Amino acid sequence: MEATVILMRCKKNKALSGIRVQKMEDDNWWMTWAFGISEKSAKNEGFSQHYSLKGMCGTSDYPGCPYCKSPGFVVCGNCNNLTCYDGEKNITCAWCGQHLGNIVISDKFELSGGGY
Ligand SMILES: [Zn+2]
Ligand SMILES: [Zn+2]
Repeated sequence: MEATVILMRCKKNKALSGIRVQKMEDDNWWMTWAFGISEKSAKNEGFSQHYSLKGMCGTSDYPGCPYCKSPGFVVCGNCNNLTCYDGEKNITCAWCGQHLGNIVISDKFELSGGGY
């Protein structure tokens, strides 16, 4: 089974978190867990920041952002990083400050449009 940890920043406090994702039998990546992480350990662990988000969904166990409990995330078109997301219409990237509009989100958190 393939599994990895991807990095997300909280829109509220800009703190880093790691999201554990796992490739299931259906070939989709599922977000299974999220935990707070320091800048330093994120660097030391070498967690990936670039990955295909195709068909990534949250399992019912996925606890959301460890800081503000946002259930989803958005990917910045500018820097390609993840910011936690809670259904707002407009959000600013917590990594580069880019304004992110026109957010499309499904109720299953499938953000990159596998079947769309
Ligand atoms: Zn957050
Ligand atoms: Zn950005």
